[in-house]
Amino acid sequence: VTQERAPVNSHSPRGRVAISLEDAQQRLLQQVQCMTIEDVALIDSYGRRCATDVRAPDPIPHYRRSGMDGYAIIAHSTHGANNDRPTRLHVIGEIPCGSVPTTPISATTAMRIMTGAMLPTCADAVVMLEMTTDETVDGSPFVMIQREIAPGANVSDIGADVQQNEILVSSGDFLGPAQIALLASTGFASVPVYRKPNVAIIATGSELLPLMSPLEPGKIRNSNPYMLAAQVLSTGANPVVYESLPDCRVTIERTVRQALACSDLVITIGGVSVGDYDYVAQLLAEWEGSLLFHKIRMRPGSVTSAATDRNGKLWLALSGNPGACFAGFELLARPVLQAIQGSTHPLPQRWPAVIAERFPKVNAYPRFIRGRLWNEEGRLYAIPSQGDQSSRMLPGVGADAFLIIPPGGSGVEAGTLIQTIPLRGDRG
Ligand code: AMP
Ligand code: MG
Repeated sequence: VTQERAPVNSHSPRGRVAISLEDAQQRLLQQVQCMTIEDVALIDSYGRRCATDVRAPDPIPHYRRSGMDGYAIIAHSTHGANNDRPTRLHVIGEIPCGSVPTTPISATTAMRIMTGAMLPTCADAVVMLEMTTDETVDGSPFVMIQREIAPGANVSDIGADVQQNEILVSSGDFLGPAQIALLASTGFASVPVYRKPNVAIIATGSELLPLMSPLEPGKIRNSNPYMLAAQVLSTGANPVVYESLPDCRVTIERTVRQALACSDLVITIGGVSVGDYDYVAQLLAEWEGSLLFHKIRMRPGSVTSAATDRNGKLWLALSGNPGACFAGFELLARPVLQAIQGSTHPLPQRWPAVIAERFPKVNAYPRFIRGRLWNEEGRLYAIPSQGDQSSRMLPGVGADAFLIIPPGGSGVEAGTLIQTIPLRGDRG
């Protein structure tokens, strides 16, 4: 991690100073303020982030609970039991789930009990039904047990799963099935969560056609906002897709300002490079808020830029090449959207993997290429997508990770251990 704080005051796009990706991520995260909090019904809480530490109001279980269908007994009553000399206990009743046993048992008695039911007083073990045989003597039911049962067998003591006051879900935790189940078990019908941020997505480029338009020479369909909207949705945030803008500085400036005023994050696409019509770059160079960075040591998307306005609202300017736009979102926007919704570990995880194929293309910056991960005999392997170029969309299909190719040298040989970033979508 490079700690250097490169100046970002150069007005010439060519003279931009590149910072490390880690530095860019930190500069963004320093600007993040968590969303305010709202209550949602537990049934609607999947994918949100909890906005409070939830402690168990009661222990789980809160009564001594049977883990099996069988007989509640005093373990000691089976002392010395074997096939030849089984323990024989008088069955004095049964305990279905939800009922409260009223008679205690003794060393000569047992009670039929169901999984999840409450143990009677004095019982300290449950013997599985499969380990017993029934017998009737003089019209009275008995159970035969052919082995010794240890005290505590098949019994969940009070608090065995969860202690009273234990933290079940922490503030910032992603609410997935396990967290939701815990909240339900502790009686939360609704849960405080961070509000969904509204993310403005603004494509720029005079070549962009709406999806329904027939193709025209020199023009392409405006696909990136749809990709970004899907990525935004996968973070739990709310995408707001704007109509695409022509390469016109006045229009771009007006739209970005409006969007900053009414969104929690603004993402623009395109125009950040050194081309003659790259007005986003020009606008950022003269921006009156603070420019956080305008060049990152990474490929693709090295010209990815970010700024805040006077109110501290974040504007992330992604490159228009689909591959660069995708990477810019995953590496920079996703952490912001995780943090803004309360995540305490918003940066993408890195998994070491063995690259299965030589990758000879080198660059002065680390490369983030799309590829696939798989596991073979306990080892993680990675393979680049065919023909990964930032202008292409097809290599993204089937990709489930970025493979990080270190800068310099002569690329990486097959069998080299590299870092990868798994693309886990709504991983939480
Ligand atoms: P730019 O970042 O504006 O220099 O654009 C780089 C490349 O990405 C150009 O070939 C653009 O046509 C393409 N591109 C820009 N914006 C989009 C978009 N919204 N959807 C698809 N491709 C785009
Ligand atoms: Mg453009």
